Order: sequence, then C-alpha cells, then structure tokens
Amino acid sequence: MESSAVRLRGLRKSFGETTAVDGVDLDIRDGEFFSMLGPSGSGKTTVLRLIAGFETPTAGRIELAGRDVTRLAPFERDVHTVFQDYALFPHMTVEQNVAYPLKIRRVPRAERLARAREALAEVRLDGFGRRRPAQLSGGQRQRVALARALVGRPRLLLLDEPLGALDLKLREQMQVELKALQREVGITFVFVTHDQEEALTMSDRIAVFRQGRIEQVGTPAEIYERPATPFVASFVGTSNLLRGEAARRVLGEEGTYSVRPEKIRVLKESADADDPGHVCAVGTVAEVVYLGDTTRLLVDLDAGGRLTALQQNLETSAEDVAAYRGTRVRLQWHRRHAVRVPDSD
Ligand code: ATP
Repeated sequence: MESSAVRLRGLRKSFGETTAVDGVDLDIRDGEFFSMLGPSGSGKTTVLRLIAGFETPTAGRIELAGRDVTRLAPFERDVHTVFQDYALFPHMTVEQNVAYPLKIRRVPRAERLARAREALAEVRLDGFGRRRPAQLSGGQRQRVALARALVGRPRLLLLDEPLGALDLKLREQMQVELKALQREVGITFVFVTHDQEEALTMSDRIAVFRQGRIEQVGTPAEIYERPATPFVASFVGTSNLLRGEAARRVLGEEGTYSVRPEKIRVLKESADADDPGHVCAVGTVAEVVYLGDTTRLLVDLDAGGRLTALQQNLETSAEDVAAYRGTRVRLQWHRRHAVRVPDSD
C-alpha cells in the first residue's frame, strides 16, 4: 500500500495548562490539496507547526511519506512553509528571494537563477525578478513567497492562512490560481484556514477542527451535505438546524437535523402541500436579507425554531424583497435534505 504524504497518530501538544492539540489522527494523501479548517484557537496552526517541525509534540507520532520525523529538525524534513506575512527578505530582489532556498543548499549560481526564473514563471511573475518586495502589490508578494516555496520542489507544502492579508477580490482570484498551481506541480498542499468558503473552493479534502480535535474529514461535498456533527453543520455553511420538538413536529422524528438553506423552497402558505417525498413547515418571515443574486429569508416556524431559506432572485426586485417581512410562507424541501446530525455535545 502506498504510504500517506502525512500520517498523524495520537498527536498531542500542550502549552502549560492549554491543550492546543488533543489527540489527532489523520492521513493526508500524496498529491492532495488538504485543508485544515476551524475557528480561531481550534489547534490547526499548531498541527501545521508540528508537521513542519517548529514545535515538538507532547505525545504522538508524525510520519511524512512513510518516514518517522517526530523528532527531526525542520530542515531534516522535506517540507516548506508559507506564512501569511510572506516573510520575504526586503533587502533582496525578488529573484534573490526565490533563489534563496537553493543558495542554502549550495546549488550553483547559474542553476539557481534559472530555477528561480522558472518558479517565477509558474506563478506568473516573469519579468519581476529585479524588483524588491516593497515594489510589489500584496498579491504579487504572495506569489513570490509561493515561488520561493516551490523552487526547491518540496514533497510537501504547508500554507498557514496565506491569503489572509489579501482583499476579497484578490483572495478569490488567488484561490483559483493556487488550486490550479497545485494541480500543475502535483505537490501535496496542506492549507490552514478559518474561512469555510475558501476551504470548500480549493480542497480535495477538509479536516474540520474544534478544540484541538478533528470533528470530520471529508470532501467539500461530504462535509457540506453530510455534516457529521452539529458543530460542522453550523461552522461550514449557514447553520440551519431543526432540533427536538420542532424536528418531531416537522419531520415526525426526534433528533437534530440540518437542512441547507438553498435546498428549501419558499411557497405561499396556501400552496399545495402533498408533494411526494417532501416535507414542509409553515411560518412567518422574520428577517429578509437582500444579497444581490439571492435573498435570505429567516422564517420563524409555527412548529418552533427558525430556518433560513435562500431564494434565487430570478424576478425579484429590491422592493419585493422588503415586502416579504411578516408574510406567511410554506417552506418545502425533499426529505433527503434533512440530514440527521448526531449530537456531539
Ligand atoms: P488561529 O486561526 O487563530 O491561528 P488556530 O486554530 O490555528 O487559531 P492555534 O494557533 O493552533 O489555533 O492555537 C490553539 C491553542 O493553543 C490556543 O488556545 C492558543 O492560544 C494556544 N497556543 C498556541 N501556540 C501557543 C504557544 N506558543 N504558547 C501558548 N499557547 C499557545
């Protein structure tokens, strides 16, 4: 069997009283774009730093490509890390920055420069080699950091919120580029983010972290469509849970269920309710949020609880939207879109 790019077993890390990582088991496949997603303080950065070798685990084992590296120094692991602040050398040119990892490895000068230029071309920065970091935009600096990470062709690239400092438009553009680049170079990427949309957009698989543990590992679709816990259901996507009494009244079953807002159709209260395979719930529109392409309706159900429904603005005008508030509606969705989520807490 092929070994995993990264294998973590029983990984723990405490800082004094704080347990940052509380027993993590994880296998990341070779060539995968893998994201570690979770709220601030959930331990994802610490896991990344443990993989890189910047921290030593309190307990557990780290294997990279089948090799136990738990006690090895960072430079003894075939890994490169890209940080949010890029960590470029301001006094060096772009080319010198990118060539730097090769200089440390004593690669001859001519080869260094050739490979630095190649790496700059990969991130679409040909012709920028003579500039200094201060003469670049944020997005360009980010690309220089990436080129420097790729130049030595590490087996594994660790990225700690690398797009965090960019504005939204640039961020979205870089998400697409980064994913394309990863596919092209075929290096395993391990990407830390607290932004669920970013993780869904770029990843082959995602691990969702909470309080130093992993709650679920899966493809973006698995995580979104089949959240394993209420925490995953509410952290990834809009939280939309039917619980207890409300679940029993609407679905005829006890428990906690997640219904994604875009799966819900908003009908007139008087609409025909016996669509086979569907369930419905009537309620009153409490809040309306106009989002341009869609409108978000928060509906207080007669059965108890509140659900969010997302409507495409096919023929809706901003005026119609305002008139929604206080109206009575019937929400309808296919039974399979009410996903049972086992209560973890
Ligand atoms: P963020 O998105 O804010 O970076 P995170 O999910 O990456 O959060 P970590 O940075 O891994 O979380 O932190 C996990 C926990 O460990 C937090 O409670 C944090 O305060 C603590 N922690 C991390 N590094 C240290 C350290 N060097 N010393 C003490 N506590 C630390």
